[in-house]
Amino acid sequence: MSGSTVPAYVDTRKVFQQDAKISGNVALDRLPRFRDLLADEQADIQIDLDFVLNSAGRKLISGHLRAEVDVQCQRCLEAVRITLDDEVRLALVRDEAEAGRLEEDLDPWLSEDYKLDLAQLVEEQLILCMPIVSYHADASCQNALGYQIPAEPVDTEPEGEVAENPFAVLEKLKKKD
Ligand SMILES: [Zn+2]
Repeated sequence: MSGSTVPAYVDTRKVFQQDAKISGNVALDRLPRFRDLLADEQADIQIDLDFVLNSAGRKLISGHLRAEVDVQCQRCLEAVRITLDDEVRLALVRDEAEAGRLEEDLDPWLSEDYKLDLAQLVEEQLILCMPIVSYHADASCQNALGYQIPAEPVDTEPEGEVAENPFAVLEKLKKKD
């Protein structure tokens, strides 16, 4: 299943009734906000979602998201490969009031009509599980640090100004005499 591409939208009137399973790849160009967080376009995003109508009549979306992406290493500023692995447990709701009545272990996913934007759901979940900062695990990028940041701030004050001030003070002192 990993090679197949998932549909852009699912019809919420059907998927829960059919106990649908949707697995496959999501193209990065369908996730523009997530793409903005990455160092490049080398991404592999797999989803595996089940749509279930439970005994209480809840429309549940559960499963896994897994993404291998490149982000910027905050130490050497080069790309570092990370894996995002997220468990999804959402309940489809129509409005805020319905969201407020959800069991605590469920997060609401708001969909006002029958068209559920699958890419938007995946994008939102991936953004939520992105680490705030990422680093290379090995020490090689620590060596690169010396080239990225100057060791000491360089004294950039123009010599002329530095030389002028003592004289100006001296001039004032002389005038007072
Ligand atoms: Zn690094």
